[in-house]
Amino acid sequence: MSQNLLVMLKNRFKSILALVICAGLISCTTGNDSNNSVTLVDRIPTEYTNQFYVSNRAPLAPSALIKLPVGSVKPEGFLKEYLIRQKNGLTGNLGEISAWLQKDNNAWLSKDGTGEWGWEEVPYWLKGYANIGYIMNDQPMIDESMIWLEAVLTSQRENGDFGPKLMDGDHPDFWAKMIMLYCLQSYYEYSQDERVIALITNYFKYELTVPDDEFLEGYWQRLRGGDNLHSVLWLYNRTGDDFLLELAEKIHQNTSDWAGRDLPIDQVRNYYEVRDGGEVPDWYRDQVDWHNVNHAQAFREPAQYYLLTKNEKDLQATYENFRIIREHFGQVPGGMFGSDENARPGYADPRQGVETCGMVEQMNSDEHLLRITGDPFWADHAEEVAFNTYPAAVMPDFKSLHYITSPNMAVLDAENHSPGIANSGPFLMMNPFSSRCCQHNHAQGWPYFIENLWMATPDNGVVAAMYGASKVSVKVGDGTEVNIEETTHYPFDEEIKFTLNTEKAVEFPLYLRIPAWAKGASITVNGEVVKDNISGIGYAKISRTWINGDQVSLTLPMEIQTKIWEKNSNSLSVSRGPLTYSLKIREKYFKKDSDQTAIWDSKWQKGADTKKWPSWEIHPVTDWNYSLVVDENDPASSFEVMKGHWPKSEFPFSLEEVPIKIVAKARQIPEWQLDQYGLVGELKDLPKTSDQPVVDVTLVPMGAARLRITAFPELLNSNN
Ligand SMILES: [Zn+2]
Repeated sequence: MSQNLLVMLKNRFKSILALVICAGLISCTTGNDSNNSVTLVDRIPTEYTNQFYVSNRAPLAPSALIKLPVGSVKPEGFLKEYLIRQKNGLTGNLGEISAWLQKDNNAWLSKDGTGEWGWEEVPYWLKGYANIGYIMNDQPMIDESMIWLEAVLTSQRENGDFGPKLMDGDHPDFWAKMIMLYCLQSYYEYSQDERVIALITNYFKYELTVPDDEFLEGYWQRLRGGDNLHSVLWLYNRTGDDFLLELAEKIHQNTSDWAGRDLPIDQVRNYYEVRDGGEVPDWYRDQVDWHNVNHAQAFREPAQYYLLTKNEKDLQATYENFRIIREHFGQVPGGMFGSDENARPGYADPRQGVETCGMVEQMNSDEHLLRITGDPFWADHAEEVAFNTYPAAVMPDFKSLHYITSPNMAVLDAENHSPGIANSGPFLMMNPFSSRCCQHNHAQGWPYFIENLWMATPDNGVVAAMYGASKVSVKVGDGTEVNIEETTHYPFDEEIKFTLNTEKAVEFPLYLRIPAWAKGASITVNGEVVKDNISGIGYAKISRTWINGDQVSLTLPMEIQTKIWEKNSNSLSVSRGPLTYSLKIREKYFKKDSDQTAIWDSKWQKGADTKKWPSWEIHPVTDWNYSLVVDENDPASSFEVMKGHWPKSEFPFSLEEVPIKIVAKARQIPEWQLDQYGLVGELKDLPKTSDQPVVDVTLVPMGAARLRITAFPELLNSNN
């Protein structure tokens, strides 16, 4: 008997049982349609193996969720609009600006791996650029990507190495290749071009021959070995070559110890300074590195290694890494943490920020961890970063971005703000010529998010893992390819509708993720309530024989919630569903020459047009130094939600077009000003009362605000 049939029979039995139990009950929530079986599960079962999509191969731990090939998920609504803006903006045109993307003397294009330009920038950019091409079926973008990919595919040397000949000090540099491996995997998903498998296989044979004292030596590559490990397991799942398991172990052994605690301080990498010359706190030795991008992408390495060991301790080390950095530097809204280059003891106020690279790497890690663990926590978190912090890091037209984004930032200018933030230089400017790594690496954020909205499940079903307007094509049940259209303005709206298109009736489970913030979610199938009052559970599983035109509706009630950040002076933040809200500050834009306001390590092409690609300073026109007046017995009653029209542009992340606002009561705190570093004054220095009158202020979603106050100071006389 096939597993499918077993599942089907089990589900049938459950349906019958549910009907029997429901008989005579007034508030039965299973519905009248005997075809529906809705169950609530913490996790999607992993005792089956999906028959249509490449899953983890033994002896690896089984796949919890399975990525669909790039192109299976097509975005709609603002997700589609984001890709269009990326194409028309910085991502699509970086080739005419960035010195590293010029084709003359580029080591990524040369036959012998030599050339002036040849490090992380090309693959960082291509990782997102090419995938936008595949997702949108954009032939010019695909053609441009192929120039780079063809050069890589024909660059393999006798020893198996490929691409630029790179050194990290005295040792070979594997880091930039790790990023290109992601590009090659996506290209393979899109094209099934077998040259990819041959090239990567030979490259990994080469990696296995490199002596340990030459392998992953040097700063970036040693910390980021997890990305190399990911690609090795990706290939193993496709070819089953045993040497890949040996290489996976070797990579882990040569990667920094991301499960290490209580490390000797000289083993904590990139260690710089403690505020005011204080002692290094003991807890600082519980992470091997505190650079924001390294952490956001490499904290997951123990969980990746868990796929090999199946040792629960390895998995838990990743959860613990996430907790440790947030305990000390992430006591702020928006999902990220204060590490404006490195997380420095003593600098944890919400005015500290994170790199744009840190955000997109965090999202990518969350997506990896969702697939590895099936834990919806990671989906909640990917959404939190994607919908709140990441949109704030780029201009609405996606033509410029900046390096550092903070929950509290009231001016973006070309000034130096160090040591208030770690780096010296114009790190807050919205500048298309600047922020070298983020300028290229930002590209992956939205396409990767879109690719992971939907995933296959081990039991030949499909899960709506993260939410957003989209269409998915996926093989389910007996192998029938179905299309599901997801219609919604989520995260601005509480309702998500799914319409199924199929050529024939097919039985399979459709899973819907229930976010942790949702209280009392409900589901209808073809207009009939099949389950309601759902809270505190991972997924709702709808098993039925689906027919063309079936409709499912999921309602995720969004209540206003306030959160007190005790470790940051009892500051307060406001959220509703997955969106965090910031004080609306009217913004004034000042156009600047991009070549005059770029960070020191920026390089642009001769002829890059500063008129066409200007930079922006953004200054506040209205006061920002408010705290909120909140009824502590009933916080939600202090806020009024105002819903507006969905923008015709389909783009909600700007002050002009954002379709939802919250009206709140507030008092000004006159003592709260910019400090000597030109940054929003720290919360710890503020008085806890204000004699200013209570006034109405407007809050907007954080992602729509380029200037913002998101963590509000504690106000003890809030009620009188
Ligand atoms: Zn960066």
